Amino acid sequence: MEQPISVTRSNFNDWMVPVFAPANFIPVRGEGSRIWDQENKEYIDFAGGIAVNALGHAHPVAVNALTEQAKKLWHVGNGYTNEPVLRLAKQLTENTFADKVFFCNSGAEANEAALKLARKVGLDSGVAGKSGIVAFKNAFHGRTLFTVSAGGQPKYSQDFAPLPNGINHVAFNDLDAAKAVINEQTCAVIVEPIQGEGGVIPADIEFLKGLRALCDEFGALLILDEVQTGVGRTGSLYAYMNTGVIPDVLTTAKALGGGFPVGAMLTTDKFAPHFSVGTHGTTYGGNPLASAVAGAVFEFINTPEVLEGVKHRHQYFLDALNTLNAEHQIFEEIRGQGLLIGCVLKAEYAGKAKDITTWAGEEGLLALIAGPDVVRFTPSLIIPEQDIDEGIARLKRALAKLAK
Ligand SMILES: *Cc1c(COP(=O)(O)O)cnc(C)c1O
Repeated sequence: MEQPISVTRSNFNDWMVPVFAPANFIPVRGEGSRIWDQENKEYIDFAGGIAVNALGHAHPVAVNALTEQAKKLWHVGNGYTNEPVLRLAKQLTENTFADKVFFCNSGAEANEAALKLARKVGLDSGVAGKSGIVAFKNAFHGRTLFTVSAGGQPKYSQDFAPLPNGINHVAFNDLDAAKAVINEQTCAVIVEPIQGEGGVIPADIEFLKGLRALCDEFGALLILDEVQTGVGRTGSLYAYMNTGVIPDVLTTAKALGGGFPVGAMLTTDKFAPHFSVGTHGTTYGGNPLASAVAGAVFEFINTPEVLEGVKHRHQYFLDALNTLNAEHQIFEEIRGQGLLIGCVLKAEYAGKAKDITTWAGEEGLLALIAGPDVVRFTPSLIIPEQDIDEGIARLKRALAKLAK
């Protein structure tokens, strides 16, 4: 076989639309929670592909599911159904509140489907003008035009006006503010159980319960965006399971495929029929390859051992971070659930999160930011303790650069 074309990081600037500014090294292979770059330098992975690689890299369960399916059937299109997608739908409905599932390829598409479903349910209700969507400041729901508009960070939407209208943003965790804008014309409230991109900010349980009650009062759909929190990330299969609040619609992606692109919108028999034949669709959604991998990943994660393991690792991670912080006094607060952890920088280090992740890279650690002031960790749900220890040691060296 011919050698593949040799490429370098600078080729990114040559050939790629510059919406990203990737690190100055190129990962080429991974195993578990470790990654190696072109120079064979090793990194501990505390980023997990942004809460995606739930089983780490090259986990045999995912590799087997992918390769077995790859030998059988990749794609047939939605004029035909397929076995892996039906099995995955059974798993998702049997293990959640949902009765029905719509599959797609990403979190944004899952939220796009959820918002469109809510608009359709509003229309079908016969209540005039029931199209209002209530969303929250600082929220993140994806990058399609509808989902950036629902998101509460104007920097992601303002350049693309005119935006879809009828979306009202109020302060997160402020039930009175939500109450003031939810009415008969509201078709949906969309909220993250933990604002991930917005800084790892958990929703108060009373806030979620209050939203549930308001949605019931005014006949609006409660959409929980669990794209980041879902599939074991918080130590529950889905974060809502720990709140006592049952949504009407839930969106899931990221960890669902463990690295293979897949997304899903879950809903109930009450609302699913509003998406009748032809009202919404996708070419790849529910593709056999994606479904086979997601089915294997979901089955692996949805066990008491793995979910308890996430809670255990949370504590282990927090103990290590607190010890480090006691020494260096860099973080004002360490928050989050399970393996979705945000470290808020003290005021004197405001704006330095990106620098810290760059220095972490130099020290052999992949880490994330969640806004300019929060360093975020979303590693594999099964990261070994010794990799946590080693990653924290590397983080400590990166933070030493900050102190200088
Ligand atoms: C990442 C994310 C999305 C968008 O998912 P994509 O797969 O990037 O489209 C939506 N909502 C939340 C909460 C997310 O974290």
